Amino acid sequence: MKKPSTNKPKGGRPTVAIVAIGDELLHDRLDTNSHEIQTILLQHGIETQVRVVVADEVRAIAKTLHSFLANHSLIICCGGLGPTQDDITRQAIARVCKQPLLFQPAMYQTIIRRFKKRGVKIPDCNKQQACFPRRAVILKNRFGTAPGFLLQTKSRMIAALPGPPGECRAMLEKELLPRLKRSRFKNSNREAVQHLRIVGMAESQLQEIIGPRLTQHPDIQLGFLLEGPGEILIKLQIRPTNKKQAQAALRSAVREVQQALGKSVVDRRGRSLPEVIGRLLLKQKQTIAVAESCTGGRIAQRLVSVPGSSKYFVEGAVTYSNQAKHRCLQVTAASLKKYGAVSAEVAMAMAKGMRQKSQATWALAITGIAGPGGGSKSKPVGLVYLGIAGPQGRRAAKKLQLSGDRERIQCWSATLALDWVRRCLLEKQAVGKSLTDLKRIKIVP
Ligand code: AMP
Ligand code: MG
Repeated sequence: MKKPSTNKPKGGRPTVAIVAIGDELLHDRLDTNSHEIQTILLQHGIETQVRVVVADEVRAIAKTLHSFLANHSLIICCGGLGPTQDDITRQAIARVCKQPLLFQPAMYQTIIRRFKKRGVKIPDCNKQQACFPRRAVILKNRFGTAPGFLLQTKSRMIAALPGPPGECRAMLEKELLPRLKRSRFKNSNREAVQHLRIVGMAESQLQEIIGPRLTQHPDIQLGFLLEGPGEILIKLQIRPTNKKQAQAALRSAVREVQQALGKSVVDRRGRSLPEVIGRLLLKQKQTIAVAESCTGGRIAQRLVSVPGSSKYFVEGAVTYSNQAKHRCLQVTAASLKKYGAVSAEVAMAMAKGMRQKSQATWALAITGIAGPGGGSKSKPVGLVYLGIAGPQGRRAAKKLQLSGDRERIQCWSATLALDWVRRCLLEKQAVGKSLTDLKRIKIVP
């Protein structure tokens, strides 16, 4: 690898640059890989200093790599490792590092076996995926044909990961990160950054509550990351000079924030809402089912996005029409007529019906007007009712009034519904069997 001229990474700490490669990233597709790589690295205490998107052109890629080699310890490229003629990342890296590309027959056999398993004859162009710069360490691809690779010298590393997001993520986590942990990144301090997940609060509210508390922690940097509708990650970070002291200071700041925000903190380690719900249900050996109208399956989808959710998720039903609410959940025609499909009573009846049908410990139901049409003066667009049915016949409903377009209303209401389940589960944990709150209908604006 070429020895760069101005080669001292800032402050002696190893620094990282991410280069996303692909014409489509400049025109048609969003570069999500860079963000994901950055997030995963940060979870391991490794900070990224710069991210760029470059076209599928050897010269442009080589130029970018040259300039980054001058200032960064690690450059992670993603994309352009495929079999087609626009996949030229390996050529660009080989050129910059002044290493020839060598064909690796053993790796080609691995790629052939992948095709054979699928009963497909391997096209000739896949051969280039078995070519790697000399001295490169090959990074296995568990989910695709394109292996990645890592080239390193004493002071610099260049990694190449595949473009498809699932393959990129898996290779980063399983192949690259363990190698980084054995390299000059070994002292990266995991605990120097902590993310607290918050649901249903605005950044300004959070700033107002947390800001004054953190004045006693001048070393802590506070950041807010929007995480889709209704969710925010509070980022608390400290630049450690002394690892032990930094960890203690971070712990104390996290404690402070948690005390200030109480149950609004979904998780102190940034875990997702569905994950947190899953852990609570598993802990209490309970199960859940959902009946959805206005969210059309989003809540179920989010619950099952968690590996292992089959242990506690029983079923979900999208009961969109009145007939479906009646047929699948035994909501009576009289209730539907009297209160309307979007009402606290129907939401609770849906939950009750789903609980009976599924035999789950908890059933959550949601019904609302996602818009843009269908609203009225008394039931405007964005009006959503949640219903819950729990052990010992406890039931409750909750009213939400959301704003925005259809997508926003559906996302927000799914998030708030999941958060309500989480709070109900926490309450159950805290007060044992007397879940008094759930006996009443709660109408919360
Ligand atoms: P490639 O490895 O360059 O052939 O990319 C294969 C596919 O992966 C592309 O068509 C994109 O759909 C996707 N992809 C590539 N790079 C990225 C990226 N940085 N972020 C998200 N998706 C990507
Ligand atoms: Mg590409």
